[in-house]
Amino acid sequence: MPRYEFRCRACGDTFEVNRTMDRAGEPAACPQGHLDTVKLLSTVAVTGRGGASGGAPSSGGGCCGGACGC
Ligand SMILES: [Zn+2]
Repeated sequence: MPRYEFRCRACGDTFEVNRTMDRAGEPAACPQGHLDTVKLLSTVAVTGRGGASGGAPSSGGGCCGGACGC
């Protein structure tokens, strides 16, 4: 069963809900009972921050990594 992450705009809490896909768009109440919640796009988008460190390209050297022969 897919897992969806919601954020409560009343208390700021985030929580996960397991539900079938045909019910993915239905609103979910937060653990504190608030109904003003929004569904987050994905867990990856939320927890992905801080993973990449400042954009250091892992280039193999040259203008294109050697694929063009320059
Ligand atoms: Zn809440």
